[in-house]
Amino acid sequence: MGAGPGDPGLITVRGRDLLAQADVVLYDALSHPALLEVCSPHAELRDVGKRGGSKNPSQDWITSQLVELARAGRRVVRLKGGDPSLFARGAEEALALYQAGILFEIVPGVSSPTAAAAYAGIPLTHRDLSSSVTFITGSDREGQTWSPEAWQRLATATETICVLMGMQRIDAITRAIIEGGRSPDTPAAVVQWAARPAQRVVTAPLSRIAEASHEAGLSNPALIMIGDVVGLREELRWYDRLPLFGRRLLVPRPEQQAAGTAEAIRRRGAEPVVIASIEIGPPPDADLLRQAARNLGDYDFCVFTSANGVERFFEALAQVGRDARAFGSCRVGAIGPKTAQALRPHGIVADLIAQEFVGESLAQAILELGGVRRVLIPRARVAREELPQMLRAGGISVDVVAAYETRPAGEKHRERLRSMLRQGELDVILFTSSSTVDALVELLGPDAAAQLSRVTLACIGPVTAATAQRHQLEVAVTAESYTVEGLLDALEHHYASELS
Ligand code: SAH
Repeated sequence: MGAGPGDPGLITVRGRDLLAQADVVLYDALSHPALLEVCSPHAELRDVGKRGGSKNPSQDWITSQLVELARAGRRVVRLKGGDPSLFARGAEEALALYQAGILFEIVPGVSSPTAAAAYAGIPLTHRDLSSSVTFITGSDREGQTWSPEAWQRLATATETICVLMGMQRIDAITRAIIEGGRSPDTPAAVVQWAARPAQRVVTAPLSRIAEASHEAGLSNPALIMIGDVVGLREELRWYDRLPLFGRRLLVPRPEQQAAGTAEAIRRRGAEPVVIASIEIGPPPDADLLRQAARNLGDYDFCVFTSANGVERFFEALAQVGRDARAFGSCRVGAIGPKTAQALRPHGIVADLIAQEFVGESLAQAILELGGVRRVLIPRARVAREELPQMLRAGGISVDVVAAYETRPAGEKHRERLRSMLRQGELDVILFTSSSTVDALVELLGPDAAAQLSRVTLACIGPVTAATAQRHQLEVAVTAESYTVEGLLDALEHHYASELS
């Protein structure tokens, strides 16, 4: 199966479906770790990657593993970077399966040259500039020595030349192509880590591209692209012009919730850093939640403030042997569109959805409804008090029940995070709630503000920003629309205005 060039969004739908069904996955160094998130928690994930010269583990060993695992009746995915049929030995592995009488399927992938074409803005062909393209490897077959003749012949036989695994020999390769009759002024590029936030592209005339890529320190995995099509890059490049391109954004969220945010970050060319610096766990007194669930009929309004609160409440409802019907005539409110969305699969369409990520507008709306006497709010153990306070001030009896608790995660995350901050490996921290600010500050310890002084802090709304300021943190960006997309928009705006 082809994994594509790295961006986990560039695997095929077929590939992702099969990954989700796999019992065992044998993957390479070039396949992105986030791809494996769709795998079942019971799947066995084996890294069989070999990079550069290191000989571990051998191709024979990998092939014998495939046969052995399949014979044991397991569904095996062999995941390879890019496409399995282009310089990937996919055919050798499939042939071994054929000989062993094992059924297989080949799933194509986005190959690195097509990925580079898209993400570096260097098309492989073009009506006026190039009507042929050659993919060629710069490395030798074992036992054979490299010689320039083949490259000299290639020089004028094809228009676009795309070299994979060629970085070790870039000087000799470009020289041979010039010797073969290609103009030294032909536009050329080296594209490293195509389609990833780490992507780097260097362009220069063919005669100077080797030197330019050495100067820039480019190394594998990289492609050498040669031909007039390279000249289109200045107009066609879009990825490395995205305002957040290449920046590293920490998402301090519980692991199970970070995936959607990580994907939104990648779509903007930035790199999500997901450290499970925060955990969500049951509240200290889970009985109170179950009791509230049992007595749901006593309330005429129930307000959910987060998707987490929704999930935990329905778990409690199930534990007391009830389901959505228990709401009866109790109406339901949700703060934020995500919360309302989380209610839907449980068969609940919220009566009121707060426009904003802050609770005040919802309190106002409930008070305006009239006739509401008892309100239940299942939410995080520590949260803002404005909503219950406003309701109580309006004469409503309010029960606030802890549905879950956000806590700083363990020691090993603390060390990893501290060291990333020390090394300047993070550009931005995204705070999506007050509780994540509290938990991160607690995790980092007493000098949290000093440790965070060199990163850009971005908050999802004014309430979260106020919490950060209470911890003496300097907030650079506060979103105007209180969603993750709104937060990323605000961050883009921040960087764009910094540049101008
Ligand atoms: N089957 C893969 C190629 C594997 S050979 C494919 O279809 O892309 C390994 C070579 O692929 C690397 O040396 C490099 O030249 C190229 N490569 C793979 N991923 C790349 C990436 N993200 N950016 C640039 N080159 C890449």
